This record gives sequence, structure tokens and C-alpha cells, in this order.
Amino acid sequence: MQLTGEQLIGHQAVRGEGRELLAINPHDQQPIPSPVFNCASAALVNEACVLAEQAFDSFRSVAPELRARFLEEIAEGIVGLGPLLTERAHLETGLPMARLEGERGRTVGQLRLFASVLRQGRWQDATLDSALPDRQPLPRPDLRMCKIALGPVAVFGASNFPLAFSVAGGDTASALAAGCPVVVKAHRAHLGTSELVGRVIQEASKRLELPEGTFSLIVGDGNDVGQQLVSHPAIKAVGFTGSRSGGLALMRAAAARPEPIPVYAEMSSINPVFLLPGALSARAKSIATGFIDALVMGAGQFCTNPGIVLAVDGPDLEAFLDKAGAHLGDKAAQTMLTPGIHSAYSQGIDRITSQPCVQAVASGQPDLGATQAQGHLYQTTFESVAANAQLLEEVFGPAAIVIRCQNVNEMLAFAKSIEGQLTATLHLEDEDLGIAQGLVQAMEKKAGRVLVNGFPTGVEVCDSMVHGGAFPATSDSRTTSVGSTAIDRFLRPVCYQNLPNVLLPEALKQNNPLNIWRLVDGKTTAPKG
Ligand code: NAP
Repeated sequence: MQLTGEQLIGHQAVRGEGRELLAINPHDQQPIPSPVFNCASAALVNEACVLAEQAFDSFRSVAPELRARFLEEIAEGIVGLGPLLTERAHLETGLPMARLEGERGRTVGQLRLFASVLRQGRWQDATLDSALPDRQPLPRPDLRMCKIALGPVAVFGASNFPLAFSVAGGDTASALAAGCPVVVKAHRAHLGTSELVGRVIQEASKRLELPEGTFSLIVGDGNDVGQQLVSHPAIKAVGFTGSRSGGLALMRAAAARPEPIPVYAEMSSINPVFLLPGALSARAKSIATGFIDALVMGAGQFCTNPGIVLAVDGPDLEAFLDKAGAHLGDKAAQTMLTPGIHSAYSQGIDRITSQPCVQAVASGQPDLGATQAQGHLYQTTFESVAANAQLLEEVFGPAAIVIRCQNVNEMLAFAKSIEGQLTATLHLEDEDLGIAQGLVQAMEKKAGRVLVNGFPTGVEVCDSMVHGGAFPATSDSRTTSVGSTAIDRFLRPVCYQNLPNVLLPEALKQNNPLNIWRLVDGKTTAPKG
């Protein structure tokens, strides 16, 4: 497959009319000369959205089996790109090949998971309440409910997962599974990778003769393209992963529309780790090494990176800090995804170190290049953090602050006062269970995932996963962007009252033609055979 730098608008590849863009190699910050991308004009963005609107009715009506095959063909196509994809992604992001190969596995796994979700049929939540014509004092009509697709979805690829949260990532896979056409805005940080994956989706769409506007991929630089996408009347929902400021800007744009639409934005999280006294006493050193490994993994560019650690002051905490500091000291600096992300990291470090209440614990190996990130560990007290909210802002990269607490009540007070988080981690032994109960109760109200004796980096893609959490972790705490229930974001329930069988959606027809799980008069009914 040849990269051309064109926009993928429906089934066409079209050269943009806007200014020229080149991908950047983050290792040396030099432009990658080929291909030259041209930004989309407003007319092209409009064309992609109009095509998506035109495709919506046919795409949402195709048999779930065909949509499942579409997702599987995308997965096969991505695998079929072989090293072309991972080598281009490596060139554009600086991420190690092994990480990219793992991420490719996760991406195709996600697509296949949604194919199986479609085949199971539970995603439609088909629910039937039979008519009760003789009910007194009033008869009940025949009532049936199922979920239908929301409409065309705009997806913003994330910089830090060039495959799994990008063009064919979780947002796209769940929206296509739901029956929503997708218009993706490629992330500036991996333009060629985006085109390769976009072409796989476009080819699969053509091969399966899906409606033309089922998928488009737009390249743009700056906020205009994103704002236009979110404001376009054809777009009915948005999936976004990135900065808090970017997510908030898109939420504002969506709310200001004549018809406001939902924005599912995953934004910022510092993922607190609570080290309970029994655990710290039993295994301070092993927790310390595990924590530092999680902190510096992927140059800390994970939304689930553990940025805050809390523990009660004392010799066990000293042992933890000594070991963590020594382990961090051995860690090499790593190249960050973009000069912009590196600059945001440097500013975050300056923000922390400018606070007199913060002391340095240790740093990793010095950086060797302009976009390399050195790991840093700091410490402060609960009292200082309580008086200085700036210390709790996300620093995207391999930096964390250890908060010394006088007692476990301060840990609990922290848990009760912190903003929404993607994850909360507890390290505990049996003797800590009493304290842990209060922390779990406090953190389950804030976090999408609460975990014990592990580290939050690494998000399993499965039915029970929640990659969500209260604001500002996400814009809508009722949902997840990873795992099979991510499809719910792009569906809405409709109740059909007294419709003749022929007018009902397939999922609700009398003889269950899709042969799916349904809730009939309060009883779960299994498919036959
Ligand atoms: P970003 O700046 O939020 O950009 C993400 C996408 O949204 C890009 O396509 C960007 O387009 C678009 N966008 C941003 N602001 C917009 C606005 N006001 N209007 C319209 N579109 C807008 O994220 P990033 O470039 O990936 O990284 C920047 C920072 O985000 C990082 O330093 C880090 O702090 C944070 N981040 C957090 C996570 C997380 O999971 N928590 C993940 C990645 C990044 P343009 O670039 O074309 O403007």
C-alpha cells in the first residue's frame, strides 16, 4: 500500500486544498518528507459529514452480521499491513516496535470483540412487554424497546495510542458496531499511520459494498477542522481522547449547537495509588519497583499513568522512597510523542518544582535529546496538597508526587476531595481491609476502575472493563471508552407501542428472527439452538 497524503472521503481519495503538512519524526524533530499531506478544506469536511448523513439509514439497517464482518475485515487488513504499519508508526511516534506490535494486537482484538458483540445481539437490549388487554382499570398496550444507532460520529484520534485509540481504535470500532458512520480527524502526531489504517477501512467498506459515507478520514491542522466537525449538523456524537482543554473546547462547541450533541471525551487523570500501612510494611521495596516500572512505561504517556502516591509517614515510607528513587535513577530518558507533548511535560515539571512545599526525591537518567523525557519523583505533604490544587493537575509523562500523610484519615480525606479519575489503586494486606473499605467507597464514586495490589497502566479490553470515571477523567461518567459496553455511547433506546410486526425492528419482531437474547415479560429468553 502506497501512502499518498490524500483525504479519504467516503470511497474516494482526494487531495486536500489546505496548507501542506508533513509528519514529524519525534526522535530528531525533522519532517518526514513523504508523503505530503494537504489539510482538508471546509468543503471537504462538509462533504465527509454529508456523505455520513446519507449513509446513516442504510448502514444502521445492514444486518449485524455484515457489520461484524466489516469489523473483522478491518482487523484482517490491519494485520495484513504487517511491518509497513508498525514501522511507519515507529517513525512517527518514537514508540518502540514491541509496544506497537502489542498495540496492534489490542486494536484488532477490539475490532473482533465488537464483531462478537454484534453476533450475540445483547447490545440492542431487546425488551418486550406483551399487551394486557384485560388489565383493570386500564389495558396495557404492546410495548417493545430496543437500542438504535445515534447517527454519524466524529472521532478524534489520540496521540498516545496511534492504533488502539486512533483511526480504527475503540471509538471507531464501537461506533461502527452500533451502526454509526464515522468521520475521523487524524491526529497530527501520526498522519501516515492514520492513512494506512484509514485505507484498510475504506477498502473493507468498498469490498462489502457498504454505503459510501460509512467512513471518512480527515487531515487538518489546528482547531478549525475539529470545530467544524463537531458543529456540523450531520454529526450526532463525538469520541475524543486528549487534553482537558481540547476536550472542554469540543464540549463547548457541541453544547453551543442549535441541536447539542453528546461528547464522550476522555481527558485528564492522575490515577492515585494508596499504599496502606500493612502493605507498605510487608513489601515496600517490591511495590516501589513495580510503581517506578509503571510510571516510566512508554515515557509515562498513558492516561492511566500513576501520578500520585499516598502513604503514611514513617520508616516504611522511607524504605519505599529509597528503593523507588534508586530504581528510577537507573531508568533511561525516553522520546516523547511530539514536541508539543514534551513541552507540556516540561511546563508541568516547572509547575511542580516552583512550589516551595515540594522536594525532589529522585530523577531518572538525564535526557539526551530535545524531546526526551527524564523521569522525576517528588514528595510533599497532605497539608501542602490540600492548600495547592495545582499539584493535582495532570502532568502527562513520567513524573509523580508522593504525598506524606500523618495518618490514614488524611488518605481518606484526599480520596473524598479528589476530582474524578480513570483509576484508583490500593496496595493492601488483610490487616488493611478496614481502611480499604472507606477508600473503596470514596474512590468508586470518582474512578472508572478500582484495583488492588497492581498498577493501573495496561487496560484490558473485555466485557467488564470500564475506562471512564467522573469529570475530568471523562465528560460522561456513565460510560466507558474501552470494552464491549463502549457501544452504548452510540446507541439510544426507542420504545415501540402497538406497532404491527412488519414495522418493528428485526430485534423486536414476534418470532425473534435475529435469534438473540431478549427480555420478554420480565424473563430473559435465550436464543434457540
Ligand atoms: P490535544 O491537544 O487535546 O489534541 C487532541 C485532538 O483534538 C487533536 O486532533 C487536536 O487537533 C484536537 N483539538 C484539541 N483542541 C481542540 C480545540 N480547541 N478545537 C478543536 N480541536 C481540538 O491532545 P494531544 O495533542 O494528544 O496532547 C496534548 C496534551 O494532551 C498532552 O500533553 C497531555 O497533557 C494531554 N493528553 C492526555 C491524554 C489522556 O489520556 N489523559 C492523552 C493524550 C494527551 P489539532 O492538534 O489539529 O489542534
